[in-house]
Amino acid sequence: MSSQTFSSSDVLIVGAGPSGLTLAHELLRRGIRPRIIDKIAEPSQNTKALGVMARTLELLTPSGIAGELVERGVRVPAFSIYSEGRQLASFDFSRRIDSAYPYVLMAPQVMTEAILTEHVFGLGGEIERGIELVGLEQRADGVEAVLRHADGGEEHVRTRWLAGCDGAHSVVRHLVGATFVGKTFEQSFATGNVRMHWDIPSDQAFARLNHGSFIAYFPMPDGQHRFIIAYKPGEEPQGEITMDEIQRAIDACGPEGARASDPTWLARYQINQRKVDRYVWQHVVLVGDAAHIHSPIGGQGMNTGIQDAFNLAWKLALIVQGHAPARLLESYASERSEVGRQLLQGTGRLTRLALMHNPLATATRDTIMPRVTRLRMTQEVFTSTASELAVSYRHGPLASEYRDEKIKPSYSQLKVGDRAPDGLLRVGSEGAPARLYELLTGTKHALLIFARRDSEAQRDLQSTLSGWQEVLDVYPILRSQPDGDGGQAYYDPDGSLARRYGIAEEGLVLVRPDGYLSLRSQPIAVEPLQRYLCAHFLPTAYVVR
Ligand SMILES: Cc1cc2nc3c(=O)[nH]c(=O)nc-3n(C[C@H](O)[C@H](O)[C@H](O)COP(=O)(O)OP(=O)(O)OC[C@H]3O[C@@H](n4cnc5c(N)ncnc54)[C@H](O)[C@@H]3O)c2cc1C
Repeated sequence: MSSQTFSSSDVLIVGAGPSGLTLAHELLRRGIRPRIIDKIAEPSQNTKALGVMARTLELLTPSGIAGELVERGVRVPAFSIYSEGRQLASFDFSRRIDSAYPYVLMAPQVMTEAILTEHVFGLGGEIERGIELVGLEQRADGVEAVLRHADGGEEHVRTRWLAGCDGAHSVVRHLVGATFVGKTFEQSFATGNVRMHWDIPSDQAFARLNHGSFIAYFPMPDGQHRFIIAYKPGEEPQGEITMDEIQRAIDACGPEGARASDPTWLARYQINQRKVDRYVWQHVVLVGDAAHIHSPIGGQGMNTGIQDAFNLAWKLALIVQGHAPARLLESYASERSEVGRQLLQGTGRLTRLALMHNPLATATRDTIMPRVTRLRMTQEVFTSTASELAVSYRHGPLASEYRDEKIKPSYSQLKVGDRAPDGLLRVGSEGAPARLYELLTGTKHALLIFARRDSEAQRDLQSTLSGWQEVLDVYPILRSQPDGDGGQAYYDPDGSLARRYGIAEEGLVLVRPDGYLSLRSQPIAVEPLQRYLCAHFLPTAYVVR
């Protein structure tokens, strides 16, 4: 006989994969203790995702997680594509992306999950395993979820918010009635981890194509390689993957003389390209693979799930703590849905390009691609898109710009909604150099006030912000140092940081906790900032707990 228990929580996270763990960790960093459950008794040992992209590493930097990953992963500076033995393209991350992580980091998903888990535990979080969500019902003030425990007992949980981080076969998605719109690719794939015998340097990642046959190789931290083989429709072998099958694919595509041995993980799969029609369903939010799945060519799935979680965590924390209205979540839905749409489009195109088997089409591709991919612009677009540094919320509901018509526009490429760039500044009277990213710890908004000197306008502005201390931290960044003690002020003596942010003279910039520009105002003015804050958040005096 099964028993029944009742409980309650502010946030219930269903699924302890990379998306759920990141969400839990980011909520814990903000003082919220979510409940996190997973139906499997032990963490999965499947390596699955391997590539961790620069933007993901940037977001994981303040917590120290990126540092641990980089220490244990393999840095791949470039990715090359060959067809019939001839190089079609080489995308050089080390030269083309503007990040402290100018590479793709190869770290098996099991390693990423283990590090995230340690950090969740480090902040006092718990992961309850062997508990499966089997039902949910929306209520006016939250959700009633039904959980099944390993002993067969049922628990009814009242939660204000439920995050469905339960992967590609999401039960949460099914229970809210979301449609998973898209299609299944006709090609099928075999993947796994093997030891490669060749004399290729251990930081090289590349794909080799040959008349519709495809194999890609990625180095792993333990000296193994991940391979991905794609089969033309109808040509895929059936049953277990064998070493003969892997060797046949290597012999068909190259490199010549290469040999594989010692497989440790092998899997067959088909690609689905699907995305939900809505990310937020009243008090239920879909995150990661529960909201979007796509081709692993491009290595974006886990990265996008982690970045969904970063986008969601600060908004959910402000709502739970009473510093923002629930409608702030609409911005999660629209911003991340657009990222998901572009992701499906981009990875779909890349997959079709790599797997085409029509002789005329492949000949055209092989002629045009080397010319196009040599161009600096193609290199920059590809590397910044693949590393997810190009993600922008320019057209989202949180992007706002104010410029007095007397101020001439700056010619900065940076638009409100884009990723906030890093840059150098000087700290205190000693003028010690520091990086802006060292200040942006990621739990609150950062208001950067770019001023010529310690002016009255700037001090007036700061005095009006007392009700918003839970939402933002203020950083005056001055062009010139005062004569006396500069204390802990920040300086941008040649104005280069201001220019990077598109500030011609004086102005202010609001950087979101997930590192995107949300407001730019020129000049330094109280009114546009107050209007922006009142539109999206609740001042401390209004908080009703
Ligand atoms: C072969 C392969 C290679 C890949 N390579 C890459 C890559 O290089 N880069 C990249 O970014 N991505 C890659 N991906 C994709 C990546 O693995 C996924 O995008 C990622 O795992 C998604 O994370 P998630 O947390 O959203 O979901 P998942 O990792 O699927 O986690 C979901 C969790 O929810 C739990 N769960 C499910 N249902 C319930 C329930 N009802 N109740 C409680 N718990 C539940 C599951 O047990 C699971 O632990 C690859 C995938 C595959 C298969």
